[in-house]
Amino acid sequence: MKVYLDKNFSPVDEDKAVMAKVIPEDGSAPYFVAVKKEAKSIEVKDWRTDAETRLKRKLDAFFKKMNDRIAGFLSTSPAWSDIPEAFWGEVGLEMQDIVGAELYSVALNSAQRLGSQLPLTYNWELVNNRALEFINNYWYREVGYITGTSRQTVQDSLTAFYEQGLTRQELEDRLVKFGDIRAEQIAVTEVTRASAEGERAIVDELAVEGVTMVEVWMTNEDEKVCDICGDRDGKEEGDGWGREDGPPAHVNCRCWVNHYLPGYDWTQ
Ligand SMILES: [Zn+2]
Repeated sequence: MKVYLDKNFSPVDEDKAVMAKVIPEDGSAPYFVAVKKEAKSIEVKDWRTDAETRLKRKLDAFFKKMNDRIAGFLSTSPAWSDIPEAFWGEVGLEMQDIVGAELYSVALNSAQRLGSQLPLTYNWELVNNRALEFINNYWYREVGYITGTSRQTVQDSLTAFYEQGLTRQELEDRLVKFGDIRAEQIAVTEVTRASAEGERAIVDELAVEGVTMVEVWMTNEDEKVCDICGDRDGKEEGDGWGREDGPPAHVNCRCWVNHYLPGYDWTQ
């Protein structure tokens, strides 16, 4: 069986010895050895908190700037037409760049962390391309959706300004509150997604070469875990869930995936 990602790679004896441990030569059924779940959970939590905090800080600054600009556009009788249409295109592009770069680095970091634990040689460039492809396909589309929600919120707030007789301050406070909630949601949800997709970038490259890893859904196992995620905890892909289900399973989902390599003892 071909197991190396790098097409030009010719395994030296040392690699062959590792591979012998990974895939049983007699073709017997592969066995699974669980990751030390507790140890890995702590490590994942620390790493994720850092990434979330970093992204949240950037998003806070982004939404603050966006709201300041909107407040600057609004006249004494604020109207939707006060805000130039081009403004929405600009904020969309800005968010694409700021958050896209951060999510790309989360995905790569995640891929690297899994890759560094594998007894396999793989082509980093291909993994990198997959991570980039994910950002391009997913995030740039998602930004359109987020910008659309922001527009809608501004429109709704303007309606409320007249219909509910909000003060100018109350109008601006609404927008600030929206930004705060969105920043938190995007940071948590998208770090979850980018980490899972980062690991999958490696997993998919290995699959091309005939090495199949098994994906397992992991939760924090605390009181915040919802029923959807709780039911999936510790279950392999295909056992009640598929990649299209996440993680994230929902907004603010903090789950992640672990990958098992059949026949390799991670505890060694
Ligand atoms: Zn979850």
